Amino acid sequence: MSRRCFVVSVALAVNVAVSLLSVSPVLAQTPVAGADPGARSTSPLGWHDQLDGGDDMLDVATTVAPISSIARNIGGDRIRLHGLVPDATNSHTFEPSPSDARVLAAADMLIANGLHLEQPTFDLAAASMRPDAPIHLLADATISEDEWLFDFSFPESAGDPNPHLWMSVPYARRYAELMRDWFSDADPANAAYFAANFETYAARLDALDTRIRAAVATVPPENRKLLTYHDSWAYWAREYGFEVIGAIQASDFSDPSPRDVARLIDQVRAEAVPEVFGSEVFPSPVLEQIARESGATFVDALRDDEPPGDASSAEHTYLGMLRNDMVVMIDALGGDGSAIFTDLPVADGYAR
Ligand SMILES: [Zn+2]
Repeated sequence: MSRRCFVVSVALAVNVAVSLLSVSPVLAQTPVAGADPGARSTSPLGWHDQLDGGDDMLDVATTVAPISSIARNIGGDRIRLHGLVPDATNSHTFEPSPSDARVLAAADMLIANGLHLEQPTFDLAAASMRPDAPIHLLADATISEDEWLFDFSFPESAGDPNPHLWMSVPYARRYAELMRDWFSDADPANAAYFAANFETYAARLDALDTRIRAAVATVPPENRKLLTYHDSWAYWAREYGFEVIGAIQASDFSDPSPRDVARLIDQVRAEAVPEVFGSEVFPSPVLEQIARESGATFVDALRDDEPPGDASSAEHTYLGMLRNDMVVMIDALGGDGSAIFTDLPVADGYAR
């Protein structure tokens, strides 16, 4: 794409009113230890399984890890699940390999984010999947075009909206609901199982959402702004009342020019941004320089498509990723995230 996006203009996003919830009802709504489905029934995460196309259960291919995690919670042990995008991979530029064609050929459905995130995978899917196997697009089924956000790394001029809906928990809940419906349509015999898993998982997502609102309320209002390297917080910010004042990564995923960096440093100083946030998947010396020269602190630990821990760890899940991000972000901006998220169970789980 020819036109580089930049970055420095003040965000147009309208702040949403933050729902100020006290901490005590938050904790009361949270799954307690014995009720955590993850504690009872977590197995190694599904995104390393192979698909074999057998008739015994649905074969489901997914793309990025957060979507795979949600799918595991809904499909449980009655689907075979394979996530195509490996860890530590830029999902925006991911090119599937020839072996992914075999996975797609065996899949009963492909569940992808959509909003133009996974075009190379769709090209391979069109060539590899059975004609009767659908490609389901979560984001496209979750919001309409007038709710799309275009912003710093996803400028309207390029035509590709910001695809990171899953960072906003209500949208992730909708993703889970859509998966319940798609699995049930394809495998009606297990519809009650998928529905029960959805109820459990939806309650856990609601508890996460409630805690995020409580944590945001502990951040001084003047600090509720984000400058990040990778532009993945647009929908989160719209939901939880933050302002994204910029993203550093250009729309072609290159680093910004020295002139752009100088403008960013000026902006960070002018807006008194206390922290700038890097991404685990996109290490950037530029961000460090911006932080150093502007007087902000640099925190390089946010994640948007690779959960923390290794693939077999309990925190390597959608819930684990959001908990990690919230503790990092809320504490760095002067709030109290650690206390609010300490006992949130994050392992994937499902009924057996
Ligand atoms: Zn991303």
